[in-house]
Amino acid sequence: MTEGTICGLSIQEAKGKPSQEKESLELVEGKGILGDRHYGETDMQVCLLEQECRTWMEEQEEKGLCFGRFRENIRTCSADMSLLARGDRLWAGDALLEITQAGKECFPECPRLKAGKECRLRHACSFAKVLKGGNPALGDALSLAEHKQDGDRYIRQLGLHGFGPKGQERLRKAKILVIGAGGLGCPAITALAEAGAGMLGIADGDTVALSNLNRQFLYTPEDIGKPKAECAARRVKRFRPDCRVKTYSCAFGREELRREAQDYDFILSCVDSIETRFQINEFCRTFQIPFADGAIDGMYGTVQAVFSGEDPCLSCVNPKKSSPKRESISFGPVAMVTGTLEAHLALKYLSAAKKPRGGLYSFDGESMTLEEIPAVKNPACTICNKK
Ligand SMILES: [Zn+2]
Repeated sequence: MTEGTICGLSIQEAKGKPSQEKESLELVEGKGILGDRHYGETDMQVCLLEQECRTWMEEQEEKGLCFGRFRENIRTCSADMSLLARGDRLWAGDALLEITQAGKECFPECPRLKAGKECRLRHACSFAKVLKGGNPALGDALSLAEHKQDGDRYIRQLGLHGFGPKGQERLRKAKILVIGAGGLGCPAITALAEAGAGMLGIADGDTVALSNLNRQFLYTPEDIGKPKAECAARRVKRFRPDCRVKTYSCAFGREELRREAQDYDFILSCVDSIETRFQINEFCRTFQIPFADGAIDGMYGTVQAVFSGEDPCLSCVNPKKSSPKRESISFGPVAMVTGTLEAHLALKYLSAAKKPRGGLYSFDGESMTLEEIPAVKNPACTICNKK
């Protein structure tokens, strides 16, 4: 969550009554907000909402069912609620809150949902309980404290050479963007989230189709027709409730990269379009963001890691942008190996104190071999030499 400020405070005394705007609130430990109708509840004592979302709701001609029912207590400026996860703790002025629910589901009878229109409210709000009382006031800061202890969750990987608690901590701070949530993206997203990545961005403009289900294991038949990015995020939240997930349900090209991707620590290209792969390559080299690219062709998978300007980029290796001819043929295990290798390279890089070199690797599902392909920087590469 980016740090924010409190720009609106309100309480609702009883259901159906109008909200009252306040200069400050009185938060009581374990109880909630004095005078608010949710005072004394166990889990949903305080409701937070992005100011931007409230403004957006007021501008919409077609009102969602929640627009009227939903009453926030704390409105925030420049804090991204969609990055919060259950268990996150944050300071609201001098009061400490713990997120009990991040986002909310729509009512199935909502007219906006039925019309297939977006609802920002779903991701822009959070519910919390009060861990430590206080008097947050307008203009006070809103900032992320720490997350609850992870317990034994990562105990089996902490002993790995070069990993340890410090590597785990580096992962917890990492923001990773996975572009493409298909055959490569599903295993990549799963491996990253399971290993303890702190924040994942998931970008995919497609909806789930029946033909995806031979390999894209984050989805179920009930997801068919729904946006992949959101379905994938929901699954991640089930096995890693504390992982912060941001979704982009749109095609992710040059423009989206520039607008959305500059803050990420690592990017995984899991798309099947050669154009998009080269756009990601160019973007990552221009903004010096380490990345891994994956591609499959029938029984063959290729992964390339470009961690710094020292490593050859996609364009160095493949200046003519030649692409696999059989992209429509996807064998689940080959896609899973390839996507997992991308995540493996990302995890190795992000957890390491001393950053490794990248490389180009090829998996052959016929002969069952994985080999490193010698690759060198091309002195005439148009991307690496771009000033
Ligand atoms: Zn290059």
